Amino acid sequence: MNEHHLEASLIYAHTHTDAFIEHYKELLRIPSIGADPAYRDDVRRAAEWIVAEMQRLGIENAQVLDTQGQPAVYGDWLHAGADAPTALLYAHYDVQPVDPLDLWVTPPFEPEIRDGRLFARGAIDDKSGVFVHLKAFESIMAANGALPINIKFIFEGEEESGSPTMEPFIEAHKELLAADVAVISDGGSSDETPRMMASVRGIVTAEVKVPGPVRDLHSGSFGGVVHNPTHMVGKIISALHDDEGRIRIPGFYDDVVPVSEAQQALIKENEEDAIAKGHEETGLETFWGVPGFTYYERATAQPTCDVNGISGGYQGKGAKTVLPAEASFKVSMRLVDNQDPNDIAEKFTAFVNNFACDTLKIDVNILSSSWSAETLVSGPIAQAVIDAYAATWGKTPKMERAGGSVPIIGMLQHVLDIPVTSMGLGHGTNVHSPNEYYDLAYFGPNVDTAIHFLFNMAK
Ligand SMILES: [Zn+2]
Repeated sequence: MNEHHLEASLIYAHTHTDAFIEHYKELLRIPSIGADPAYRDDVRRAAEWIVAEMQRLGIENAQVLDTQGQPAVYGDWLHAGADAPTALLYAHYDVQPVDPLDLWVTPPFEPEIRDGRLFARGAIDDKSGVFVHLKAFESIMAANGALPINIKFIFEGEEESGSPTMEPFIEAHKELLAADVAVISDGGSSDETPRMMASVRGIVTAEVKVPGPVRDLHSGSFGGVVHNPTHMVGKIISALHDDEGRIRIPGFYDDVVPVSEAQQALIKENEEDAIAKGHEETGLETFWGVPGFTYYERATAQPTCDVNGISGGYQGKGAKTVLPAEASFKVSMRLVDNQDPNDIAEKFTAFVNNFACDTLKIDVNILSSSWSAETLVSGPIAQAVIDAYAATWGKTPKMERAGGSVPIIGMLQHVLDIPVTSMGLGHGTNVHSPNEYYDLAYFGPNVDTAIHFLFNMAK
């Protein structure tokens, strides 16, 4: 397929932009709040809406696929030939809860356009990824009857819940989801510069409980003879890091490898901005961290182990001479590179359990875990995304390394063993907050971006 086919696709998209937006409201009206069991039927209804739309557009094998959690949606079009690449296009159709409801100007599931902005929960995050990809497909097919490359769609229904059952799902559908690249279309930019996610860290969260006596005791009667659980919590926490901040869990750094040259260049490029933003967001003059690494390396390329909260004993006003019945703490560990979340969970558990003794036992509960991931920032596939944005937004995207975690990226990368790139197709803000909106000036350009990307991939 050539420039004429691209041009014809764009013309179709441009003449249908208003109709697309009108149609988008239909999907936005379905309250697919994945995390809330009360909306279970609505989540499925959204999945079924997408399947029906896929079938209408001529996407093949369109189906709702059950997971152990919320259903996923699959569809494909694989007639571009064996020589053409296959892209797995990912987005999620579940949305965040809407509280506090009274801060919404109009109800979150009654989409409304005000001042060129389409307000609705999920308008950006992330029904935009689902819908814009479908409209790009519609445009190319309507204009040409064929696509420049093979595509598979996978739309998730539990991203906002941390993708708790997606890993076994992907594992079980490895062949169905096999592709040359996975494209994550989740969210988008909120200013005039498009954004690409360059990396995310993995995560392991855990809760450690130290149970002691059957009830809170009088420290006068039992202090000195009963082992105090809060002391144990303090001892474990103080052992987690050395004086310079290195994590002391044996083997914790075994699989940490230096970041790639391309990513290193990104770190350099963004270092100053990241530090300025860090000062602004924390109100702190001085930062902390392991010697030998820059701020941005520590924030995105080094693993961490942070205590998120400690509880136990009396914390009210004045003194209360109590010896607590139990103490506990929660941690989150951010992982990088090849650190396997299961391996780190085991190492953490073993490290903490080592503190158990005759007088106190310790319970470790791993709460969640996911892989880190580096997405493509250079090479032909990343270039296909960069060129797509450049053609439609008139700007090349800013690549951002994230200190946070997006579990699905690592799952696709590790389970399917394919490279991942990111291409957000939303534009607007208030994601996860009241009055989430899509800036409609970018709606057409984003459909164009998705179209350009597929043509660029064929080159
Ligand atoms: Zn999202």
